[in-house]
Amino acid sequence: MLVLGIDTSCDDTGVGVVELHPDGSVSVRSNRVWSQTVHANYGGVMPELASREHVERIDAVMGDALAEAGVSVEQLGAVAATSGPGLVGALLVGLMYGKGLSQGLKIPFHATHHLEGHIYAAASEAELQPPYLALVVSGGHTHLFDVRAEGQYELVGATRDDAAGEAFDKVARLSGLGYPGGPAIAEAAKLGDPKAVPFKVPLAGQKGYEFSFSGLKTAALLAHRAGAKPEDLAASFQAVAVKSLVKTSVRAANDLGRNTLVVSGGVAANQALREAFLQTGLRVLFPGKGLNTDNGAMIALAGAAAIRAGRGEHGLGDGATAYAPLANVEGD
Ligand code: ATP
Ligand code: FE
Repeated sequence: MLVLGIDTSCDDTGVGVVELHPDGSVSVRSNRVWSQTVHANYGGVMPELASREHVERIDAVMGDALAEAGVSVEQLGAVAATSGPGLVGALLVGLMYGKGLSQGLKIPFHATHHLEGHIYAAASEAELQPPYLALVVSGGHTHLFDVRAEGQYELVGATRDDAAGEAFDKVARLSGLGYPGGPAIAEAAKLGDPKAVPFKVPLAGQKGYEFSFSGLKTAALLAHRAGAKPEDLAASFQAVAVKSLVKTSVRAANDLGRNTLVVSGGVAANQALREAFLQTGLRVLFPGKGLNTDNGAMIALAGAAAIRAGRGEHGLGDGATAYAPLANVEGD
């Protein structure tokens, strides 16, 4: 069965096609993302502009995704679209488009949680077999979930303040490295000394599994004002951020007896982070290429998993929600 996935939660218009094979395995057939550039002059995403851009682009991105997959719209077997969390106006575009498509084609519709999409992005590389721990490190989240069974998400730790991706973006901005901050920090870090700025790992010694990045951001600002080279600042910040994410996740995995860890979300594209996690001795799964930051294929992968689990038709009556904690996912 071919599952179409749509994500318009923020400033990327993403549509992807995934094939759910009769044996339950999945393969990504296409993944097309239009990243909006209209926000560049505003220093942040302008919600109303984001919604309008989604409206203007979604048909073209959908056409490209179908063409890349080599399928016609009539061949689709189900549609999944993100219903939250995200910018409500932006979410509504993809959600309504997906619902309309499913009704026109008379095929099931599945409303998908954006973070479940981020987690299932790793299903492009290997089968996600619970139990496992999932660390979502993105622009708005640094959340650690214990996934005891399929569709059951228990939040075991999160950031107290800034998200990891947000911290990469802010440190890049304050040190003049530009936007998007994550890739800019990663590039500059290659030329810097990770020991040049002596950052302290946040919340060292804690018993829980929380994260904190706002203190690092302030420390980075002070180091910048004191004349630290942007490359050294980038390398030192990246090193401490990675260390914090790895240490806390590994401790949680050991305490909870989990030996598989999914690391996903935009920050999971970071090479230094990947290398550090791969050295932990845990079985670590990452999303495939192009599936770390927001995209439609990850939503199709989550939809395909829901269909496989018998909860594929869900959410036709759901609206878009800005705030939606990822709790246990159930069918109608
Ligand atoms: P959320 O999913 O929490 O709503 P989002 O969808 O905006 O947030 P993503 O698209 O998953 O977030 O990720 C974007 C974030 O990932 C940005 O903060 C960006 O700086 C970061 N990022 C992207 N590439 C890298 C990289 N190579 N290294 C570090 N961070 C990165
Ligand atoms: Fe996201």
